[in-house]
Amino acid sequence: MQSSYMVKHQAYNLFMYIPIKKSHQDLVRLTALANFVRPDAGLADPVYVRRLRALARQAFTGIAAPAQSIPSAEVTALTSGDPPDWVAERAALVARDILNSFADGADRVEFPAAFAPMLTLDAAGLIRPVSDIADMVTSILAGKSAARIRRCPVCSQVFIALRRDQSACAGKCTGAYNTRRWRERQRQYEQNRRRNRVAKAARAARRAKEEGK
Ligand SMILES: [Zn+2]
Repeated sequence: MQSSYMVKHQAYNLFMYIPIKKSHQDLVRLTALANFVRPDAGLADPVYVRRLRALARQAFTGIAAPAQSIPSAEVTALTSGDPPDWVAERAALVARDILNSFADGADRVEFPAAFAPMLTLDAAGLIRPVSDIADMVTSILAGKSAARIRRCPVCSQVFIALRRDQSACAGKCTGAYNTRRWRERQRQYEQNRRRNRVAKAARAARRAKEEGK
């Protein structure tokens, strides 16, 4: 039999965790890519490049280019699941800038000039937008809650708060953050205890004095 605590706990998890985890999975993947990119590492490092491309593949595979648009070569490479290293890095850098801005509280973020909207003519001479990396990043970000994009107080990387009350990025940082908070609370608790003990002793002394009269 399940205790009522278990039932409540599961309901809490369903409400706080599972729905957002599913709907924000694409944003979580984009954040992983954005946090990984290190332009100074250089594309000459094969380990860096392999991981970068894998993260870009995970972030952009299955993301659709806007309807009516003609995908740029970069977008085709990204969505085909085999992005060249420089395309993966370019996408990661754009994502990094945008996510960092939101994590730091921006309420308006502009794409770099290199990602300004472009128009072209299709084979029939009709004007069509050219979809760029910015469009792919936009389609992942559109409709997401900016309050969920946060900066970790421990490692200062951007993370997506899958739970409303999540204060640090998952894994090691959550542990470190909880320990830090626990120590602070413990200190507060000890202080309160000392203060209460002194107050209690003072009360007892006062009572003893009154009774002694
Ligand atoms: Zn962290």
